[in-house]
Amino acid sequence: MGISAHPLVNALGWAVGLVVACGIVIINSETHSDLAPTLLYITLLLMAANLFSINLVITVALLCMLLLTAMFLYNGGYHRWESTTGFFRCLTALSAIAFLALRSKQASDSLRRNQAYLIGAQTQLAHVTRLTSLGEMAASIAHEVNQPLTAITSSGEACRRWLERPVPDLKEALDSLDRIVANACRASEVIARTRAMARKCDPLREPERLDQIVSESLDLVRQQIVDHNVSVKVNLAATASQVNADRVQLQQVIINLITNACHAMETIRVSERILYVRTWTQEHEVLVEVADQGTGIAAQILPSLFEPFFTTKENGLGIGLSICRSIIEFHDGRIWATSEVGQGTSFTFSLPLFSDA
Ligand code: ADP
Repeated sequence: MGISAHPLVNALGWAVGLVVACGIVIINSETHSDLAPTLLYITLLLMAANLFSINLVITVALLCMLLLTAMFLYNGGYHRWESTTGFFRCLTALSAIAFLALRSKQASDSLRRNQAYLIGAQTQLAHVTRLTSLGEMAASIAHEVNQPLTAITSSGEACRRWLERPVPDLKEALDSLDRIVANACRASEVIARTRAMARKCDPLREPERLDQIVSESLDLVRQQIVDHNVSVKVNLAATASQVNADRVQLQQVIINLITNACHAMETIRVSERILYVRTWTQEHEVLVEVADQGTGIAAQILPSLFEPFFTTKENGLGIGLSICRSIIEFHDGRIWATSEVGQGTSFTFSLPLFSDA
């Protein structure tokens, strides 16, 4: 939206106007009328309003009025009634145009100032948005990479324990090593996915069996589950169902939910630490539920759970669930939680069934 055309075009337009006004003066000089010089002054005034500052416009307006009066006096027009009324008409017209030109000059100046302010504010906003996105991406990577790092540490420790036994259990030690390698690969895949998500790139979707993704996720956090003395009850009943999904991202969701469930059961008796993981299909959707017997969540907190940076943990980042929601919404699905304080919590997400039809 421009207030006026390019200054050069403006200047050209006004130069043409000036030439035309001069023409009128020359043609009308015979009649000794005040109209021709008034037209010239009006053109000059409008030109000044377009090109110069307000102070200069006021100066030009006063000069024009002075010249018009001087010409009237010089020509002795005050001897004739028609000339006197004509002079006052021209003076009034010139004053009115001067007033309007000044008002429009003021308005366009303030519009220009507002535009400059708006552009400044937009630049600042873009800068802040960039910083916020960078901050959110850094927080997401820190949160998501923390989990595979924890898994690597606990699998490493487990591997050492298997090897330090009087009779080393090589099979278990090798399994732990496999988990270390898998989690290390996952860490770099998670970084790549988080960066892609921050850049709003489409996830790498392929037809995947959801049950298989759930099993892989459980394998990746097996050592953490053991460390938390949690027993798992798995019921995967969506065996044949496929979803169009980014495998690594769905693993992130499931692992985040399992990790939270393990944390929520840290304070209850070991015998009660049971994690339920189940899948099933329903109409055109596949559903996954991760439920625990932990502390539960108060009803007034439930609506804030998926908000970024909401946490009740001392060292929590509060972005695990917000990442889960972003991923599930990327996949055109829904995620929700139900809970009762002291009775545990259940997180469920649903994804549209994939059909290649
Ligand atoms: P963080 O774990 O860093 O706090 P999350 O986004 O993963 O961030 O979780 C946000 C909050 O949701 C947690 O601080 C906790 O209060 C609550 N929460 C999540 N999962 C559970 C659960 N299974 N049981 C009880 N509270 C939970």
